[in-house]
Amino acid sequence: MPERILVIEDEQALRETLSYNLEKEGYAVQAVGDGHVALEAARAKKPDLIVLDLMLPGLDGFEITRILRRESNIPILMLTARDEEIDRVLGLEMGADDYMTKPFSMREFMARVKATLRRVRLMREESGSLEDEPKKVLEFEDLVIDTTRHEVLLSEDVIPLKPREYDLLLFLARHKGQVMSRSLILERVWGWDFDGGTRTVDVHVRWLRSKLEEDASKPTRIVTVRGAGYRFDG
Ligand code: CA
Repeated sequence: MPERILVIEDEQALRETLSYNLEKEGYAVQAVGDGHVALEAARAKKPDLIVLDLMLPGLDGFEITRILRRESNIPILMLTARDEEIDRVLGLEMGADDYMTKPFSMREFMARVKATLRRVRLMREESGSLEDEPKKVLEFEDLVIDTTRHEVLLSEDVIPLKPREYDLLLFLARHKGQVMSRSLILERVWGWDFDGGTRTVDVHVRWLRSKLEEDASKPTRIVTVRGAGYRFDG
């Protein structure tokens, strides 16, 4: 079964170019140009990836991301025009998985699409076979990861995590007690090596610790193993 991609872009020429190139690579593509139609399509078809333009008639890309993130974890690759660059951080905070600024080359676009799909595939494989549903709720005393709601609770309070922080925590938690190298974490959680490289992992671990560990007198949940990587101890 080819992977299904929903392209949401109101510029007809770009919509057709993206669709054409994705189809050429063997993906099953549905392309729409209106925000409301897009939301319905995303809900009905549950695509493997959504390519989402930011400025759209109807609902804009932020709205769509916000609504979809409450319902699902379908990866979103957001597209914006250069003058909307200020929105990058906001887009990622809202729950987009990746972000591209127009104009971009088709080569770069295809690389991002593949990287995102690959990351999702690896995450799924990581958490068991596609048929075998992985454990939906992981509990570590007062820390609970609810994978159905994409929520992390600490002493029953929801901890606001960015999508990547959530993915990182889930990856480490699913391998509790095992040392995971930075490069493996990067590959499995980020899906590709980008500027910043393994330092990005360190930064995200630091953010996770600051959100999950208010009491500094307690041992850390995410242990740094010198020269090796990180280990989640629950
Ligand atoms: Ca647009």
